[in-house]
Amino acid sequence: MHVLITGGAGFIGSHLAEYHLSRNDNVHVVDNLNTGSYDNIKPLLGNASFRFDEADIVTWAGLDKAVGWADRIYHMAAVVGVKKVLADPVSVMATNIAGCERVMRAMHQGGWNPQLIVASSSEVYGFNENAGFAETDAVVFHSGSRLRWCYAVTKLADESFGYAYAQKYGLNIIIARLFNTIGPRQVAQYGMVVPSFVRQAISNQPVTVYGDGTQTRSFCDVRDIVKALDLLAATPAAKGEIVNVGNDQEIAIKDLAQLVVQRAKSASPIKFLSYGEAYGVDFEDVSHRRPILNKLRALTGFEPKWTLVDTIDDLIRRERSMSKPVTETMTG
Ligand code: UDP
Repeated sequence: MHVLITGGAGFIGSHLAEYHLSRNDNVHVVDNLNTGSYDNIKPLLGNASFRFDEADIVTWAGLDKAVGWADRIYHMAAVVGVKKVLADPVSVMATNIAGCERVMRAMHQGGWNPQLIVASSSEVYGFNENAGFAETDAVVFHSGSRLRWCYAVTKLADESFGYAYAQKYGLNIIIARLFNTIGPRQVAQYGMVVPSFVRQAISNQPVTVYGDGTQTRSFCDVRDIVKALDLLAATPAAKGEIVNVGNDQEIAIKDLAQLVVQRAKSASPIKFLSYGEAYGVDFEDVSHRRPILNKLRALTGFEPKWTLVDTIDDLIRRERSMSKPVTETMTG
């Protein structure tokens, strides 16, 4: 199979690339290396079935040809991360919407109908107060929140483009609403909580909980996400559907902080910061976020394999092994 991954040097995209290469597929990655990184794909470069183009999805001249080559496309290219969204909302809006539409347009105009998996996000549920979110639930935004919702608006726009192209031109599109994904190669610098906590705990720095820490999230290991996306793509009944993808185990952020400190056997204290202190502006956080996975299960039989503790232990081990040579040099 020929697999095109936009944003394939990013966190989830690079795991998709690795997964498909391990299954002897041909993989073409395009990434502008803005939030993605060359290091994520470096180990894949020697593989004859792998190709990488450094380009922006909005302007990439090779898009039509790559789309014409592909049997399956994962559209992962997007500007992500709360800190990035607050710092650069214009590029979030422009890249996330125009990039996705451009991929769909290339599929339509090329007259070739590969399968497209669009990475949407649990952010689209916004302030919905339900204990868990099902795909048919309302999306709730506060009109005063403005920049806060830029990212969610782009993902809703991508979903709507997906329906529009599917309905009008019969494109083969699946929309995956990804819930908080964690795992190796996720970086802390754009604000993601798990890599931030792991790094802080390893270095015995204060673990910074924003707000009162009672907000909850449901974290899914990236290796489970990749498997779920592949299963969905291989399920004919998933065509044209929106599907939640994640893990439904839920944890409060203050408990997550304690868990990471405990697993790392760290001396880090837990430090509570207001949203103003954390993000530099007042910020409306989502209080609960848990996927209802009935649809994903019914379509694919998917069950996540990684527990939160397993992923945290894996991340702690990797983070320690990466920092080890430096310590050895310093002490040796
Ligand atoms: N968070 C935190 N400390 C950090 C980074 C994030 O307490 O150093 C909180 C953040 O306010 C949110 C949760 O952890 O309530 C998840 O944040 P993340 O940005 O990882 O994901 P999202 O908010 O998009 O679900």
